[in-house]
Amino acid sequence: MPGVDLHIHSNFSDGELSPAEIAEEIKKAGITAFSVTDHDTIKGLSEAEKAAERLGLEFVPGVEISIYFDNASFHILAYYFEQTERFCSLLEELTQKRLIRAEKMIARINRLGYKLDIEDILKTGSRGSIGRQNIAQTMVKKGLSESTSALFQGLLRKGGPAYIPNPTIDPKTLFDEIHIAGGVAVLAHPGSTRHDEKIAGFAKAGLDGIEAYYCKHIKPQVAFYEKLARKYNLITTGGSDFHGKGRYPSKLGQFRVDYSILASLKERKKVIDEKRSKVAKPLIKKG
Ligand code: AMP
Ligand code: FE
Ligand code: FE
Ligand code: ZN
Repeated sequence: MPGVDLHIHSNFSDGELSPAEIAEEIKKAGITAFSVTDHDTIKGLSEAEKAAERLGLEFVPGVEISIYFDNASFHILAYYFEQTERFCSLLEELTQKRLIRAEKMIARINRLGYKLDIEDILKTGSRGSIGRQNIAQTMVKKGLSESTSALFQGLLRKGGPAYIPNPTIDPKTLFDEIHIAGGVAVLAHPGSTRHDEKIAGFAKAGLDGIEAYYCKHIKPQVAFYEKLARKYNLITTGGSDFHGKGRYPSKLGQFRVDYSILASLKERKKVIDEKRSKVAKPLIKKG
């Protein structure tokens, strides 16, 4: 069955495969279009795009941006943005702040008696942005913990002794920035985020879609988010959130969505571009 996958992590954040390897696996799985959506960074997109072109695959530029709002974390997927200087520098700032956050988390970890250096993570980990998964994997490699899941349940869990929230940006500002870059803003994995009460406000602030078709959503959740999307005039998208071995889906192709979702994503992009071109054109005064 062909299909698309609009949510994949590469080794430019906390995924296992390089963008080129992802493209190879997508091709093998018979998927025809895919996106790479690393955490707060678009540094892996050019490699993915080149590999997609070589393999005859359709590529959708993407990124997954973390925000912290009203004491809850949300992940916003952006698609089809242009890599404008303004959008790139926003992401660069978030990546830099993630690095500072990682240093602070490591300082906390060391205060608890471990021996960990940011260099250990930079050497073996991500080629782009750093997150808890990179810290967890390095700790396991160094024999400081038996598993990453033990760390995500202990030290690194939200509210845990080494946890520090991600850098954030106000949701409305983020939606505006995505639109200014010509991108489409989608709320990732709402079923895992569990703050459905925020969706109405996000829609009012400019959110374009929700990821109704997510690898962990059960059928009633999909139906629920499809209904919410209709209510707030949002599109629905989907993806596997593939990171690599160790959690479902452990292989690309195990979860895919219908190609038709790409049509509504492109339709939304067109609306955003039309609005953008109107804003950009100065009014011609008569006389
Ligand atoms: P961060 O953005 O640094 O707070 O890290 C969040 C990322 O860590 C998520 O996007 C997941 O990829 C990963 N993650 C979260 N919870 C777990 C878990 N229980 N086990 C493994 N990875 C996790
Ligand atoms: Fe992740
Ligand atoms: Fe996410
Ligand atoms: Zn993700």
